[in-house]
Amino acid sequence: MAKQFNAFEMAQDQFDEVAEKLQLDASTRELLRWPLREYHFLIPIQMDDGSTKVFKGYRVQHNDARGPAKGGIRFHPQETVDTVRALSMWMTWKCAVVDIPLGGGKGGVICDPHNLSPREQERLCRGWVRQIVRNVGPVQDVPAPDVMTNPQHMVWMLDEYEQIMGGHFPGFITGKPVEVGGSLGRTEATGTAVIYTVREALKRLGIPIEGVRASVQGFGNVAQYAAKKLIELGGRVISVACWDNTDHKAYTFAKPDGIDVEFLLSITDRFGTIDKGKAREAGYEIKPGEVWLEQEAEILIPAALENQITGDNAAKLNPAVRLIAEGANGPTTPEADAIIRERGIFVIPDFLCNAGGVTCSYFEQVQSNMNFYWPKDEVLQRLDHKMTVAFHAVADLAEDTGEYMRDAAYMIAIQRVATACRLRGWV
Ligand code: NAD
Repeated sequence: MAKQFNAFEMAQDQFDEVAEKLQLDASTRELLRWPLREYHFLIPIQMDDGSTKVFKGYRVQHNDARGPAKGGIRFHPQETVDTVRALSMWMTWKCAVVDIPLGGGKGGVICDPHNLSPREQERLCRGWVRQIVRNVGPVQDVPAPDVMTNPQHMVWMLDEYEQIMGGHFPGFITGKPVEVGGSLGRTEATGTAVIYTVREALKRLGIPIEGVRASVQGFGNVAQYAAKKLIELGGRVISVACWDNTDHKAYTFAKPDGIDVEFLLSITDRFGTIDKGKAREAGYEIKPGEVWLEQEAEILIPAALENQITGDNAAKLNPAVRLIAEGANGPTTPEADAIIRERGIFVIPDFLCNAGGVTCSYFEQVQSNMNFYWPKDEVLQRLDHKMTVAFHAVADLAEDTGEYMRDAAYMIAIQRVATACRLRGWV
């Protein structure tokens, strides 16, 4: 029987490879290969029909040597503890590579929120907090939204936490609505910060941003703000690919003289489907979904899903491509990565490229703990600074050692966490 894909084993393999490069000692390896703590619990919920249903919840804290653990809570019917473990480990590296004083955590509940009423979802959020309240909090572990959880879920969780603790602790959780202690700039943070790293990479590659061409996969939160920011800086987005909920397939919307984000948004329905007829009338060519990566562009920005650039399609990348900025998590398979590396394409790896989201969440936590909120410009300016410094630290190491950008990013992140563990006397 074929070996089942296990995200945690993959995360451990990645870690082992970098630990070897860094020549980490055996005890540090043992410590960082596993989560420091994990909690498994049951959440009994009264359903609207009066019956009781029991859900399974998790919180995994991979490492908090650099600061409180940080990471989202997923509601997913196929959630497994190994996925949560892997994601918590990746959060440790992501926070470390952008040098924010937080560790890595992740949580989840096995459930399908589509089958739960809003009141049932509220009880589930409150129940999750009741089961873990002693082990999370502003100085221990700070949750956030993730797959199928949203700002409303965060407010219910915050409210339950504050009711139990008897005070206001907005730094307990991030991803809150601005009206209840959220940060300005969070909505655009990830996509905008993708372009901060792109801008810096272009400087290193000697490519002027003015007139540079990009092809983007996705037209959701990350893709839209990345496209807007690149256009604002003088670049041209010549195509976006997007899922069509009516046809159940993806299409590429191409316009060689540059797409207009606001126009495309005006013809996108609430499920994210772009109106093909109206796009065609406005001069867009509509092509198959996978064509986004064959476009003649200097930059590719996968910002939709994981495993999109594969061993099968990497050969189709246009010869013009010089830079791939991984807005999505895990968009490139290991086979494709080898091909891209061989071709000498510069890659900004996902956990650096899309770290603007967690960096802004860190800013939200700082503002919440101070109970003092910054204007949006200040948030974005601080975000730009963090991303720019982080990018160059990785690119400098890659240049100095000849390591691939992805490996250099892992080396910096893991070294920082290992150092914090050593300084604390854990290893
Ligand atoms: P989203 O749901 O807002 O958007 C996803 C987009 O992908 C949609 O436009 C959808 O049409 C498109 N899409 C789906 N399937 C597709 C296909 N087969 N071909 C082409 N397009 C397709 O999600 P998002 O928040 O923009 O996140 C995108 C990626 O970025 C995910 O991998 C996510 O984990 C990662 N990410 C997001 C954030 C954040 O702050 N939003 C932070 C870090 C990482």
